[in-house]
Amino acid sequence: CGIVGYIGYNDSKEILLNGLEKLEYRGYDSAGIAELDHDHINVFKVKGRIAALRQRVDDTTVSTLGIGHTRWATHGKPSAENAHPHQSASGRFMLVHNGVIENYQELKKEYLDGIAFGSETDSEIIVQLIEKNAEKYRDTTKAFRQTISLLKGSYAIGLIDKQDRDTIYVAKNKSPLLIGLGDGFNVVTSDAMATLKETDQYLEIFDQEIVLVNRNFVNVQKLDGTAVHRSPYTAQIDL
Ligand code: GLU
Repeated sequence: CGIVGYIGYNDSKEILLNGLEKLEYRGYDSAGIAELDHDHINVFKVKGRIAALRQRVDDTTVSTLGIGHTRWATHGKPSAENAHPHQSASGRFMLVHNGVIENYQELKKEYLDGIAFGSETDSEIIVQLIEKNAEKYRDTTKAFRQTISLLKGSYAIGLIDKQDRDTIYVAKNKSPLLIGLGDGFNVVTSDAMATLKETDQYLEIFDQEIVLVNRNFVNVQKLDGTAVHRSPYTAQIDL
C-alpha cells in the first residue's frame, strides 16, 4: 500500500499515476486518485491494477492538486467503494490513509452518529470527523489537528479541502511518509522512489507530526501546533 500527492502548477494526474505504479511493489488490491479541479473534486477508484485505474481516469480534466492511494485492505473487502480516496458526507473533503485506526469504532459511536458512510473502512471515520470538526471550528488546520489527536493506531494521511486550493494536509504515525521538495511544487509520498522523477530533495516526517503542504512552502508542526524546523536530504537511489 502507498500514498502519493502533488501540489504545483502542472497537471497532477500523470505524476500521481506514475507514482502509484512505482509503489506497486508494496502490494495492493485497489487504487484511486482524487484531484481538485477548480471547485469540484474528480474521483477515480478501481479494484485491481494501476493499469485499470489509468484507463478509468478522465484525462480531459486538468488539476494542479491531487492525492492517490494503493490499498491493502484491512477493514472492508477490496472493492471500488472501499478504495481510497474517501469523501466526507457533504463532499467537501477527500482523504487517503495507509495504516489501521484501532479506535475507529469508538470514534464513530462517540462523534459520528447519524452520518451515512460510503464504505466499510476504518479510514472513512477520519474524513467524516474532519468535516464535523471543520463545521465546529471553522478552521481546517485546527479541525485536522484535533481529529488527528484523537486517532490511535498507524497512519499516513493526505487530505484535500475543496475550499482550499493551496494545501494538502498531511499526518504521520508509524506508517512511512515523506515530503518531496520542488521548485514551484511539492509532493507527498510513501517512498522517495515513487517521485524521484520530480525531485531528489526530501523532508523526513516523524511520528505525530502534521504538515501543511503548499506549492511554494511546507509547514511542519507537532500535534500541539509547535513549529518544526528540519533540513531536507538528497535521495540517492539508482533509477
Ligand atoms: N485500513 C485502511 C483500509 O482498510 C487502509 C489500508 C491501507 O493501508 O492500504 O482501507
